[in-house]
Amino acid sequence: MRGVRMLSRILLASALALLACDRDKEAAQSKNSDAPLAVESSIEPVSFPADNGPLPQMDSGRAMQYVNEIVKFGPRPLGSSNHKKVEDYFDSHLKGDQVEDDSFTAKTPVGDFPVHNIVAKFPGTKDGIIIVASHYDTNYPLRNTSYIGANDGASTSGLLLELANQLRGKTRDGYSVWLVWDDAEEAMVPDTQMDFMADSLYGITHLADKWKADGTLKKVKAFILADMIGDADLDIDRDLNSTPWLEDVVGEAARRLGYQSHFFARTNKVSDDHLPFMDRGVPSADLIDFTYGYNNVFWHTPQDTVDKLSPKSLEISGNVILETIRILDKMEPLPPSKGN
Ligand SMILES: [Zn+2]
Repeated sequence: MRGVRMLSRILLASALALLACDRDKEAAQSKNSDAPLAVESSIEPVSFPADNGPLPQMDSGRAMQYVNEIVKFGPRPLGSSNHKKVEDYFDSHLKGDQVEDDSFTAKTPVGDFPVHNIVAKFPGTKDGIIIVASHYDTNYPLRNTSYIGANDGASTSGLLLELANQLRGKTRDGYSVWLVWDDAEEAMVPDTQMDFMADSLYGITHLADKWKADGTLKKVKAFILADMIGDADLDIDRDLNSTPWLEDVVGEAARRLGYQSHFFARTNKVSDDHLPFMDRGVPSADLIDFTYGYNNVFWHTPQDTVDKLSPKSLEISGNVILETIRILDKMEPLPPSKGN
């Protein structure tokens, strides 16, 4: 049987000791929980099937154009007219695609807000679904600043629009791919006032609950989250809150494309949109670069602007996601998921 048979905790003491100082500072910021000291990996590595098909070719210029167009709407916090304009912008790019709208009202500490997840579905020949997600809202407490979340939300939302271009009009000889633009990911009150997990992830949690109730979740083979990976200085973390074997697949995809130097030099433990799927037993991987500027200084500040991004980073992130999907298509069987 292929797959992970035994897990062990491997202590990366020396590397992590060097990182400890920065990590402690990062941990004080809300997305991170306690600084981790161990990474789970397989003793017997996952076997990766060969992939002799043509390499993925993201159009990075077009992805960057989408990012620029999204940020031009300005701040897009829940309940704002800009938020509605961005929803309409996505819909205009997904005309003719199979789209599921998931709209509901979120009860938040600062009132009730309309929330709108958008799901574009690209069918495959194989039974099962791979989800690629990105949130698109901007941080509500920063709504009266010039904060536009160029990297945090816009970069990956634009990336998903380009992934839609790559998937559209082709017969997928593999799993169905669903692209999810999830909403109300950001906290509604400052994280100094309330725990991030109690006041965030409203949209993606709603989708996970809905798909659990209607049986969709059983068909989801993997959940891949893209967050803050348009950073020109791209260093994607290995996330300890993700599924180890799926992180291994992402690492293999990066290696095959020659992008491995941008992946997993640093280990982190991130609370993010993947947790509602992880908690419901879906193998999940959070692709996040949580060092955005020295000591993450641009994160959740008006300095999160497009000049910090690069088309090359979007290309690396997008191609690795596409290659990860292709490897998953061919892995037979996938390591078992738990409890969904
Ligand atoms: Zn954010």
